[in-house]
Amino acid sequence: MNDRTLLLAGNWKMNHDHLEAISAVQKLAWALEDAKLDDSHCEVVVVPPFTDIRSVQTLVQGDKLWLKYGAQDVSQHAPGAHTGEIAASFLSRLGCSYVVIGHSERRADNHETNEVVATKIKAALSAELTPILCVGESLEQRQEKSHVEFTLGQMDESLAGFDAADLSGLVIAYEPVWAIGTGETATAADAAEMASAIRVRLGEKYGDALAQTTRILYGGSVKADNVAEIVASADVDGALVGGASLSGPDFAALCKAAVAK
Ligand code: PEP
Repeated sequence: MNDRTLLLAGNWKMNHDHLEAISAVQKLAWALEDAKLDDSHCEVVVVPPFTDIRSVQTLVQGDKLWLKYGAQDVSQHAPGAHTGEIAASFLSRLGCSYVVIGHSERRADNHETNEVVATKIKAALSAELTPILCVGESLEQRQEKSHVEFTLGQMDESLAGFDAADLSGLVIAYEPVWAIGTGETATAADAAEMASAIRVRLGEKYGDALAQTTRILYGGSVKADNVAEIVASADVDGALVGGASLSGPDFAALCKAAVAK
């Protein structure tokens, strides 16, 4: 048993326009109602596209929903002449609690390096957003058995320049690239192995207090029928969920299954 609150975050990726977002969040809230979840059980977070966030904010605040929301990325820059970018301060003004940083799709599609990821974490922290830092290996690295070394290296470089005080509240999502959107899920033992390695490395670099309070999520084809086994591992504190978070009822079922573990 530990004091870390279970975190279930739904990354919608580039799905749902702002009208669909309202419907998805309403359905999620309705489907969660009978479970009477509160902060003592878990946090449930939706991570919609930027263009949906204002609508989600209006709904969550207007209906006083027990749900949090965040963004899928953030600019490393302060507001100014950066066409197409979204500043961290804009996201916090919209009531975002979290921001996903370094998702493997952004690393692949937008050539985001660990150095860029580190600057985005800095920007997020300065706006009091909680970063969800994504790390994880490719299939090739897993087959070569270099997955732990690679993933820890990615984390070390993405957190370069920070100290323990900067990183309190940080969330790390272990997402093996080969398991994202493929239907291939890492086994609970695979997720547990990496979460434990991440926690040990955090302890070595930043001390035991940070290691014991940092939440480590697993992501990669998590669904209602496999989440309980995954979050049963002592070091896995929740899930970052893609496809199974798009439908409100499906994501609610997943959250209930995780809490009931
Ligand atoms: C993700 O996008 O972070 C993810 C884990 O996706 P999926 O659950 O669809 O594999």
